[in-house]
Amino acid sequence: MSLIVQKYGGTSVGDTDRIKNVANRIKMYYDQGHDLVVVVSAMGHTTDQLIEMAKKINPHPKAREMDVLLSTGEQVSIALLAMALDYIGVPAISFTGAQVRILTDKKHSMARIQEIDTTRIIEQLKQKKVCIVAGFQGVDEDFNITTLGRGGSDLTAVALAAALNADECEIYTDVDGVYTTDPNKVQSAKKISIICYEEMLELARLGAGVLHSRSVEVASKYNVVIHVRSSFNNNPGTLVVPEDKIMEKVLVRGVTLKTDEARISVMDIPDRPGLAADLFNRLARADINVDMIVQSTGKDQKNTISFTVPVDSIHITKEIVEAFIKEMGNGSYDIDENIAIVSAVGIGMKSHSGVAGKMFEALAKENINIEMISTSEIKISVVVKKDVGKKALEAIHNAFELDKVQF
Ligand code: ADP
Ligand code: ASP
Ligand code: MG
Repeated sequence: MSLIVQKYGGTSVGDTDRIKNVANRIKMYYDQGHDLVVVVSAMGHTTDQLIEMAKKINPHPKAREMDVLLSTGEQVSIALLAMALDYIGVPAISFTGAQVRILTDKKHSMARIQEIDTTRIIEQLKQKKVCIVAGFQGVDEDFNITTLGRGGSDLTAVALAAALNADECEIYTDVDGVYTTDPNKVQSAKKISIICYEEMLELARLGAGVLHSRSVEVASKYNVVIHVRSSFNNNPGTLVVPEDKIMEKVLVRGVTLKTDEARISVMDIPDRPGLAADLFNRLARADINVDMIVQSTGKDQKNTISFTVPVDSIHITKEIVEAFIKEMGNGSYDIDENIAIVSAVGIGMKSHSGVAGKMFEALAKENINIEMISTSEIKISVVVKKDVGKKALEAIHNAFELDKVQF
C-alpha cells in the first residue's frame, strides 16, 4: 500500500468521457488499497479560452482578477472528477488550492509555493477518500487567489508529493513519456525510459513543454521521482530521477525548439564597466526573464549586446531599452521576433567535447544560418530564423542519431 500522487493534464480530462476514464484508472489504484491524491488541470483548452475572453473585455486585465478567472478552469475539473468517482463508488473529495492552503507569494500569474498545509488531505486520506486537488493555483497570505504559471499543475503535483512524502508521483499526459524531442513535431523522436533531473530541467526550460520546469526543480530538491506517462494506455513512461541512478551518460539526451522568444540587440554601447549591469538590472527589476546573452565588441570600443526574452515581455523590454539608451546618451536597438532557439542537452557534454562542432555542421549541411550561440555545461543553444526552426531541430536530432537510440 502506497501513497500515490497522480496528475492528469488538460487533454486527459478534455471531455466528460475522458474524465470518466480517469475516474476508472483511479478506481483501479484505489481498489488495490492505495491512498491517492489526484491533481487535475483545466479541461482541454479552457485556460486559453478564459484568457481570450478576458482580453475581449479588457486588453490589460489586473493580474489579481486574471488569477481569479483562470483558477475556475481547474475548479470545474476537480468537481466533475469527484462526481465521476462518486458515481462508480469511490469516495472522493475535491479541494481548491485555497481550501488545501497551498500558500504562495503574491506574484500573480507566476506565484511561488511557499508552504503546503497537508492537514486536511491527511485527514481525508485516513477516512479512505481520494483527495482531488486543483492544479496550478494557490492562495497568498491575504487570501488572494494566485496561479503558478502556465503548465503549473505539474508543480502542484510534485510539491504535494514532496509535502506528503508520497511513494510515487505520476504525471499523466497525452504522450507516453518524455521523448528525445517533441513527438508531435518530429515523428522519429524516441521515448526516453530514464532521465536525470539536471537534463530534464534543462530540456523543460528550453522548450520541452511536457513538464513544467519548476516542477523539475522541486522534484530535484526533494528527491521526488516523477513518472511521466500516458493517460490513454498502460505503457511504462519516463522516470525522472537523481543523476546517480543513470547508468549511461549520453552526449545528447534530447533536443528542443522554442519559438516564443524574441531577440533584442542594443548597439553602440560604450565599452566601459557597469553598463551591462545597469541594463540587465533594469530588466531583472521588471521580472523579465532574459535567456541568451551575447556581447560583441567592434573596433571603435563600442559594444553590441544581444539577448532574448519571451515574446510576451517584448513591450516592456522595449520601454526599458529605450530609457537605457536615452540615459546613455547614444545607441540604438533592433528587435527580431522572427527567431527560434534550438538546443541540444546531455550530461555527457560535461566530459566530452565535439558536440558544438557536430551540431553546427548539421546546421551548415542544411544551409541554416546561426545568429547567436550560447552554451552551458550540459547544453548548447543556437538562435536561427523561425521558419527554419523545425528543420534545424530535425537536423540536430538526426545528427546525434536520436531517431535510432533506445535509452
Ligand atoms: P498536459 O496538458 O498533460 O500537461 P502538455 O501539453 O503540457 O500536456 O504536455 C504534453 C505535450 O508536450 C505533448 O503533447 C508534446 O507535444 C509536448 N512535448 C514537447 N516536448 C516533448 C518531449 N521532449 N517529450 C514529450 N512531449 C513533449
Ligand atoms: N490549466 C493551466 C494551463 O493551461 C495549468 C496546467 O494545465 O498545468 O496552463
Ligand atoms: Mg502540461
